[in-house]
Amino acid sequence: MVYQANAGRYEIMHYNRTGRSGLLLPAISLGLWHNFGGVDTFENGRAMLHRAFDLGITHFDLANNYGPPAGSAEELFGRLLKTDFAPYRDELVISTKAGYYMWPGPYGEWGSKKYLIASLDQSLKRTGLDYVDIFYSHRPDPNTPLEETMMALDQVVRQGKALYVGISSYDVTQTKEAIKILKDLGTPLLIHQPNYSMLNRWIEDGLTDVLEENGVGSIAFCPLAQGLLTKKYLNGIPEDSRAAKPTGALKTEAINDHVLEQIQALNTLAENRGQSLAQMALAWALHQGKLTSVLIGASRVSQIEENVKTLQRLTFTKDELEAIDRILQS
Ligand code: NDP
Repeated sequence: MVYQANAGRYEIMHYNRTGRSGLLLPAISLGLWHNFGGVDTFENGRAMLHRAFDLGITHFDLANNYGPPAGSAEELFGRLLKTDFAPYRDELVISTKAGYYMWPGPYGEWGSKKYLIASLDQSLKRTGLDYVDIFYSHRPDPNTPLEETMMALDQVVRQGKALYVGISSYDVTQTKEAIKILKDLGTPLLIHQPNYSMLNRWIEDGLTDVLEENGVGSIAFCPLAQGLLTKKYLNGIPEDSRAAKPTGALKTEAINDHVLEQIQALNTLAENRGQSLAQMALAWALHQGKLTSVLIGASRVSQIEENVKTLQRLTFTKDELEAIDRILQS
């Protein structure tokens, strides 16, 4: 059946300005790192993308290596762009990245111009896109001059292969330098994509301020700590969870007694707010991290529906924030 997007798709979502740019992003975005690869069920991925867009999620985040196998998430997305989303291309913000291992030899990872330019060309082929909306340097490269990596980002914008550029997992110093180089080149840094959640608050130590001062947006990856910040692991490791899957990145060692105690306490607090733990964790990340968007993952449609309902309660009292801090420091 031909996919017809929900006519009410812009009635629920909130859209936030990305730094000082012209681009608005949905408060909740969807990433295709897990569950959209060649090893996964195509129809499930398709259903999740439909539901997400129907709920106003206009931003989908990819990378060259998402799968497995690497590249297959971009292929799946490209297939659906052709069949289901073609009429909606201009309603979508599609990002991809290069930085991690993609092909053998000295030119298949990190931050050289040689790698970044070739990788984006490959991503465009796999997705069938003429351009992506955001192209990221996926990680800093300690051995390539930052100028070279930033020049590659500037070049893809000038070539019309990307509209905006971003960086991911760059620390405070690297971010400041990247902002300056890109500004001098005439292609401002749109956005930073850091790991951020209640269980990983590193950006509060300077990065958030640097982004705010410089008008750069932020989109947090793993805002649910890969599923830890939900009720899922409170009674063991379910068979169909990321932690149980051989292709899942969540290691069982991360699910230890200390974290489980914190999650239990957070869950009680969330229940008292009339929210699920996942919803409270997303609302907290948006609020505390001053983020443009939280970049969630999902393995089923119901998770996307639950997570979008976060928007019904985004504010926190001072007491709630203090209680959360106490739990996280315990
Ligand atoms: P999350 O922290 O949101 O974890 C998503 C997982 O949590 C889901 O796959 C699901 O796991 C579980 N989950 C989600 N919602 C619920 C719910 N309501 N109830 C119960 N369980 C839930 O994010 P991800 O780790 O998936 O990362 C999100 C995106 O961030 C990626 O797709 C990618 O685009 C980006 N990313 C970027 C990185 C970078 O280096 N720039 C690194 C990592 C991610 P389950 O399968 O167990 O159901």
